[in-house]
Amino acid sequence: MTTKSMEELEHFKRKSQHTAIALLKDPHTQKVGQSILECAERVCLTYRDQLNPAVRTYYCHQRQCPNCQERRSQKICSEMHQMFDQHPALAQQQWLYLTLTVRNCAIWNLRETLLEMTQAYQRMTKRTFFQENVIGAIRFTEVNAGQSEPNTAHPHFHCLLLVRPSMYSGNNYVSQQRWTEAWQSALQEPYAPKVHVQRISGSSEDVRRQVVGLAGYSSKARADEPDDQWLVAITQELKNLNLMQTSGLLQTMRSQLSDYNVFEDSGWPAHGQPEVSSVFAWDGYTYKNYSM
Ligand SMILES: [Zn+2]
Repeated sequence: MTTKSMEELEHFKRKSQHTAIALLKDPHTQKVGQSILECAERVCLTYRDQLNPAVRTYYCHQRQCPNCQERRSQKICSEMHQMFDQHPALAQQQWLYLTLTVRNCAIWNLRETLLEMTQAYQRMTKRTFFQENVIGAIRFTEVNAGQSEPNTAHPHFHCLLLVRPSMYSGNNYVSQQRWTEAWQSALQEPYAPKVHVQRISGSSEDVRRQVVGLAGYSSKARADEPDDQWLVAITQELKNLNLMQTSGLLQTMRSQLSDYNVFEDSGWPAHGQPEVSSVFAWDGYTYKNYSM
């Protein structure tokens, strides 16, 4: 377990270092870069039991930090599990996983594009078919680097929708085609945007596993490796934007989680704690073990 945990930490620390070095090259993002560089430099594993060490370290909490993105994604999964624990009926209800895209934009128009997409999404949620069928939603914003042209971005929304069974019956059936038309109309664009809709089905256990998995997938750390200029631009464009929004019944349930900060924000351990600890320090390539 220790080894696996350290391997994972190293994987994300390496990605964070790569991002930090890119951001340090531009005066506009130097401060963010420095902060990411210092993320998880020293890691302390404390063992209450041998199989499940607690990881304690300093986290930078920067949006573009892969270390912190991964941690945020784990926190979201943990919150989703807690929601299912508190409301087991959620696993017997109908869920949809909806992906809404727009045409790729120039990286420097990303902020404006995302604001337009958010307005379009709000418009779509006010439509009768949406109001009648969707009980709750979680919307994640993801931005990848454009594949074909440099300096472009591919912003898209991943939405987990809790829907009424009526959405699948008779005249109310909402097909992928109908979702595409609704999203195009909300966007007020002449082209048909790419939309993908996936119905989540299976046993209660399957539904829960899929919903939690998709929430994790939608908030995961960046897998692509964009160039430095792109990282500098996206850091500025996404500044202070809210990339996750919960609404309806799911918002109510999320706000009622008994311990909202379910994922402990573990700082450096205090002196005199009885647990056995191992300390690791990052040397630029790997974590070196120092006994404590
Ligand atoms: Zn970080």
